[in-house]
Amino acid sequence: MTEEAATTSPEARQSLRALPKAHLHAHLDGSYPLPAVQALAARRGARFEVPSAFVDVWQFFDHYGTVPALVQSNEDLAELCRALVHAEAAEGVLYLEPAIEPQLYAPRLGSLEQVTRTMLSAFREASDDSGVEVGANLTINTDEDLAISADLARIAAAHAGAGVTALGTAGFVEPGHLRRYREAARIGRAAGLPVVSHAGQTGGPDSIEEALDELGATRISHGFRAVESAQLLDRLARDHIVCDVCPVSNVALGVVKSLAEHPAPRLRAAGVPVTLNADDSLWFSRSVTDQYEIARSVWQLDDEDLAAFARAGTLATGMSDTTRRRLETGVAAWLAEGSGR
Ligand SMILES: [Zn+2]
Repeated sequence: MTEEAATTSPEARQSLRALPKAHLHAHLDGSYPLPAVQALAARRGARFEVPSAFVDVWQFFDHYGTVPALVQSNEDLAELCRALVHAEAAEGVLYLEPAIEPQLYAPRLGSLEQVTRTMLSAFREASDDSGVEVGANLTINTDEDLAISADLARIAAAHAGAGVTALGTAGFVEPGHLRRYREAARIGRAAGLPVVSHAGQTGGPDSIEEALDELGATRISHGFRAVESAQLLDRLARDHIVCDVCPVSNVALGVVKSLAEHPAPRLRAAGVPVTLNADDSLWFSRSVTDQYEIARSVWQLDDEDLAAFARAGTLATGMSDTTRRRLETGVAAWLAEGSGR
């Protein structure tokens, strides 16, 4: 973490772990636990280390691909998926919605459908063992996947309500061409899946409007650049469009100058529902709990504010009513206990 993030006591940190959370913006391949990736690398006779910093986003992308490249079988993939769910359980996550990109493993491991099934089945198994509800956000990369975007949407639709809870779009070169994915989004929405789009990270407010207007997105991954438009802030607040923000990632990739200057508190103050997320906990070495620690120690927010970030996660439509109730009662109990501080 950067020097801005004051350290809190082990007790305070433990209490933030205990706060029940939804983790809604976590790319599967960038979120596997480090020990699991290192164990897989060792089996290939390789070493895996995380760089201490990235020169720019392009260097980050180069590194990102090295993890899927280590995966040589469906069992390798299943093992990493299970390890992720168990690691998230230890962070107090009750609902995990990993962004999955089966296209990073197919056709090496099989068809898109086969790889998706491997992931969903591993999630189900780990969910039964850990108590974490998992719903996958099957994600199209808008920098790369135009030709297969409808295929990916059809696979998402086929598993809607049975392991897949959202159709996502991700990509760094985001503004100005999301409309090319309208057909994919239509297929997802027709199957009852919410569309969750990356926007308002490198792109300005117009990229968020494009995601809402062209794709019918109901949640935005990042979205922090909405603070540049009062009109858009009003719209997000009025329509309860959740922004799944990732403070550590934004600073690590240079799209926000510092944690102290992150716009998330301003988004919340405008009435926009905001959740806190790690994006790629493997690469940025910070968990979802660390994002809450930043909210407390850098943004100086109190426990009610932290609870509001956690509660915003209940607006994720893929979450079951049972988990929604668990999260709401768990957050209320956390507040009543004075969060252990
Ligand atoms: Zn992301």
